[in-house]
Amino acid sequence: MIVMKFGGSSVADAQRIKHVASIISEYKDERPLVILSAMGDTTDYLLEAADFAVNGKVDIDKIEKLHFETASILGIDVSEIKELLTELKTLLTGISMLHELSKRSRDYLVSFGERMSVRMMASYLNTLKVPAKFYDAWDVGFVSDSNFMNAELLSEVWQTIPQKFSDYKKGIQKEIPIVTGFIAKDKNGVITTLGRGGSDLSATMLGSALGVDEIQTWKDVDGILTTDPRIVKEARTVPEVTYEEAQELAMFGAQVLHPRSMVPCAKSKIPVRVKNSYNIKGPGSVILEKHTGKTPRVIAITSVKNVNLIDIQSNNMFGASGFLAHVFNQFLKWNVSVDVIATSEVSVSLTVNGSCDLTGLVEDLKNAAAVTVKKDKAIVTIICDASNSSSILEDTFTALNKAKINVQMISQGASKVNISFLVDTSQSNQVVQILHSALFDL
Ligand code: ASP
Ligand code: MG
Repeated sequence: MIVMKFGGSSVADAQRIKHVASIISEYKDERPLVILSAMGDTTDYLLEAADFAVNGKVDIDKIEKLHFETASILGIDVSEIKELLTELKTLLTGISMLHELSKRSRDYLVSFGERMSVRMMASYLNTLKVPAKFYDAWDVGFVSDSNFMNAELLSEVWQTIPQKFSDYKKGIQKEIPIVTGFIAKDKNGVITTLGRGGSDLSATMLGSALGVDEIQTWKDVDGILTTDPRIVKEARTVPEVTYEEAQELAMFGAQVLHPRSMVPCAKSKIPVRVKNSYNIKGPGSVILEKHTGKTPRVIAITSVKNVNLIDIQSNNMFGASGFLAHVFNQFLKWNVSVDVIATSEVSVSLTVNGSCDLTGLVEDLKNAAAVTVKKDKAIVTIICDASNSSSILEDTFTALNKAKINVQMISQGASKVNISFLVDTSQSNQVVQILHSALFDL
C-alpha cells in the first residue's frame, strides 16, 4: 500500500483534477490511499468569506463558481457539493448575524474546502471506472486535541486509523479511499484543523499508522530543491534528505512540507517521496531516517524574510544565573515564539517572526535590560552536515567577504543539521545566490 497526497494547486481546476486522477489510476495496483487538500486557493477564499461575514456580508460566489464549474467540466453529479455549500451558507449567515468568529467556528468553516475536494475526486474517479470512495477524516480515525487552527493529532490515531481501514488493508475493500487532509475532530466531535498546510501531516500520519510501503507527496516541481528556484534558477533536486533535515527545511522557509509532518515518520520510519506531478517517472526526492550513503556536506539553502532581531543586553541587576530564565519567561508571558538564538555571558540576540506584536514584551524586557529591536531582517539557513561546519563556514565567509556582506548573527542549531545567519532582507536573495554557488558548485 502507498499513501498519495496532492496539495491544493494539484487539484486547482478540472484539468488538474483529471491529471491527478490519471496519476492515481496509474498507481492503482499499489493500492493507494489518497489525501487531498482543498481545490486551489479555496482555504483562502473561505477565510475571506469569513471576514466578509464578520462584516455582515455573506458571499460565497468565488467558491461556488469554482466548484460548480469544475464539476460540470468533469461531468459529475454536484448534489453532495451543493449540500455542503448550503451548510456553508448557513454557517456564514450565522457569523454575519453575530459579527464574530471564534477559532472553533473558523475551523468548521475552512473544513468545507477539503470536504468538497474529496467528493469531487472520488466521484470523478468513479466515472472513469476507477472505484473510489471519499472519507471525511473524522470518519476514519483522525482525532485531535481542541487547539483550534493548529490542533495536534492524539496518539490514539495509531490505533483508530488502522481499525477504520482494516478492510482496505486486507484487500476486501476495492474502492480507493480518498480522504480529506488538514481536518480532524476533537474528542467532543468538534471539527478542528491541523494548521495551514496540514494535509502533509494527515498524509504522513495515515501512512505511518497503516504501515504503508511509501508516502508520496506530489508537487509541481522535481522534489526537494537545493534552494528556491525563483531565487537561484540553477537550483537542482536533492535526491535524499533525512527526516531531521526535512523538518529543518520546513522550519526555515522551504515550501516542502508542513513542519510537523515528519513527526509520525520518526516513529514509523516510512520513507516519504516528494514527486513531481509533471514528471511522473522522475524519482523526485526521498525523505528517510538516515542517508543511504555518505552524508552530503550541504543539502540545501533556505531563507525566511520579514524577521525581527531583538538584542537584549543585561545590566547589573542580574547575576550570572537567571538572566536567560528571566528573558524567556517574558517571551512565554507574551506568547512570542523565538526562532534563532545566539547568546554570550551578558547578552542574547534572538529572532522572532516580523508579524509578532512586540510592544508589551519589549516594555517588560526593558525593566531589566537594554533592548533594541531591528526590523526587516532575513534568516538564511544552510541545511548541512554541521560536523563539517568549519569547512562550510570557511567557504561561506570567504564568499560573503568577497561580496562585502557582513552577517549580523550566526547560530548553529542543536540538531547539527543547520547553520543560520541573519542578514538584511534586502540582501537575502543575493546571499542565497552567493552561497548556492559557493557551496554547491565547488
Ligand atoms: N487547505 C489547507 C491549506 O491551504 C491545508 C493544506 O493545503 O494542506 O492550508
Ligand atoms: Mg492549500
